[in-house]
Amino acid sequence: MKKSLLLLPGPVPVAQPVLEAMAWPMINHRGAEFAEILARLERLMKPLFGTTADVLFLGSSGTGGLEAAVTNLFDPGDRLLSVPVGVFGKRLATIATTYGCEVEMLETPLGAAADPRALAARLAADPERRIKGVLLTHNETSTGVQNEMSALAEAVRAHGALTVVDSVSGLGASRFEMDAWGFDVVVTASQKALAAPPGIAMVAASERAWAAMERAKIARYYFDLPLAREFARKGQTPWTPPISVFYAVAVALDRYHALGLEEQFTRHATYARAIRAAFEALGFTIFSRPDAHSVTVVAAEPPPGVDASALLKLLRETYGVVLSGGQGELTGKIVRFGTMGDVAANDILGAIGAIELALADLGSAPRFGAGVAAASGELSARVAAGAR
Ligand code: PMP
Repeated sequence: MKKSLLLLPGPVPVAQPVLEAMAWPMINHRGAEFAEILARLERLMKPLFGTTADVLFLGSSGTGGLEAAVTNLFDPGDRLLSVPVGVFGKRLATIATTYGCEVEMLETPLGAAADPRALAARLAADPERRIKGVLLTHNETSTGVQNEMSALAEAVRAHGALTVVDSVSGLGASRFEMDAWGFDVVVTASQKALAAPPGIAMVAASERAWAAMERAKIARYYFDLPLAREFARKGQTPWTPPISVFYAVAVALDRYHALGLEEQFTRHATYARAIRAAFEALGFTIFSRPDAHSVTVVAAEPPPGVDASALLKLLRETYGVVLSGGQGELTGKIVRFGTMGDVAANDILGAIGAIELALADLGSAPRFGAGVAAASGELSARVAAGAR
């Protein structure tokens, strides 16, 4: 397989020891060894969620976890308020409408973060508490926008609606305090900031959410969260788990914690700052507004006259650097550069160098070295320390 530098906002590069864990032999998923792995994973995930609640592990990608949140909490006809800031926020709303919920959208201009004041105002206009749930995104991968979650939590608190948070591309890369902020269901997945392969969704729920789940009537079978909790307490999952991915996530989380939460947060934020600085130095326009930058993905419009799709193709085919393009209405308009996974500072510098070369190939005559210089200003300490 040709070597390439994968810098997508998921799936992400996975370190060799994590990959190798997937070659370990199968074990009885109803035995003591699996129970130990499950307990270890839960212990290692709780600080990332900022919760003391149970963390459940579902054999699915992140979307399965989000669908589980909706089908376990709500009933057909329930009124929900969705606060999308891009494609993934809209997708969560679509899951809810698919299951018969009535979803109202609180719109935000693309590139901006959700406005806590607008959310508080909309909820204040619902004194009868007809809105049962609020659907939020921690980090919107399609626009490179990160919401200020503590402020959004505050905006919902007085109303008391149940909150569902998609943190698939957020959790682990910056501080998240599910309990302190008071969120009800938070979902993430293995293939993003945890730097593991895809295949497991993680879901944590508050006591209030568990009570609502016991009452909810939407049909659910595979993603029955109360059933998953019952099994988890015996050290099992209801159905056959992706055992190899569990091994990999366990190793990935050991590596994650070896660096430590604070260092992980700093690393992602530093990488994102370096990439933004490089893009700006090369004439790109950062898509996220200055107060809304994600730490896990940088979205940017190429310099005038450079076609985003042509740039991505050249980077991939000639320079072996794999970045993402836009989604939905941003297709063909932006490029997206991920910071998550087993990515070293040198990888970021290499990718930026390749972007400079590709821009030149496309006739855009960049100032050679300008991107690398801007990024190295941010990254130098990490490069010198050989830190990831
Ligand atoms: N939400 C967000 C914010 C995401 O970034 C993604 C994956 N890109 C998803 C949901 C969907 O997750 P999955 O592809 O793991 O189902």
